[in-house]
Amino acid sequence: MRGPVRVALTGTPGTGKTTVSSLLREAGNRVASIEILAERFDCIGDADPDDGARPIDIPQLYSRALDEWGESPDGSLFVDGHLSHLLPVDCVIILRCNPVDLQKRLEQRDYGERKVLQNVDWEILGGPWNDIEEEIPILEFDSSSDSPEAIFESILEWIVDGFKPERPANPIDWVEMGAV
Ligand code: ADP
Ligand code: MG
Repeated sequence: MRGPVRVALTGTPGTGKTTVSSLLREAGNRVASIEILAERFDCIGDADPDDGARPIDIPQLYSRALDEWGESPDGSLFVDGHLSHLLPVDCVIILRCNPVDLQKRLEQRDYGERKVLQNVDWEILGGPWNDIEEEIPILEFDSSSDSPEAIFESILEWIVDGFKPERPANPIDWVEMGAV
């Protein structure tokens, strides 16, 4: 069994990252949002007056985390954020959500229509898969079909098993699946 690891918990906004993070935290795991990490590493700007989002300097956060983190953490760390897969982590968990359900979830938020549709489009196009180039272990879930509890348990099993399988056999493609 491998030692402690750093895990990106990523996915288009609304795919269930924070829900799974809560379960991980309740079970005693260390979880940090990417905003908290960016604050700690002094890589975050002031809130945008339009949507309140705080811009994170990702290249700077990547290099500061790489310098600071060293080889292996004292305990496993889960990073909750839709850009967390851009950090120097050991593996990536991608949460997906059927675009129809995702739109409903995002409409519950105080997002404008444009922001809802931008995020739904991003999900249809593959979400975080678009950014991933390196050969990092990836586990993917559909939060529109799997419960938060089932996802939580599978994540822990996958880590204990040493990230097997290293990649999903059939990555989710909403277009191919006829979901859009
Ligand atoms: P994120 O942190 O990725 O933006 P949230 O965890 O805030 O997403 O979840 C968005 C919405 O989807 C919430 O209303 C949450 O209750 C719901 N949700 C999250 N995960 C699941 C799931 N596996 N099954 C059903 N609903 C979920
Ligand atoms: Mg969240």
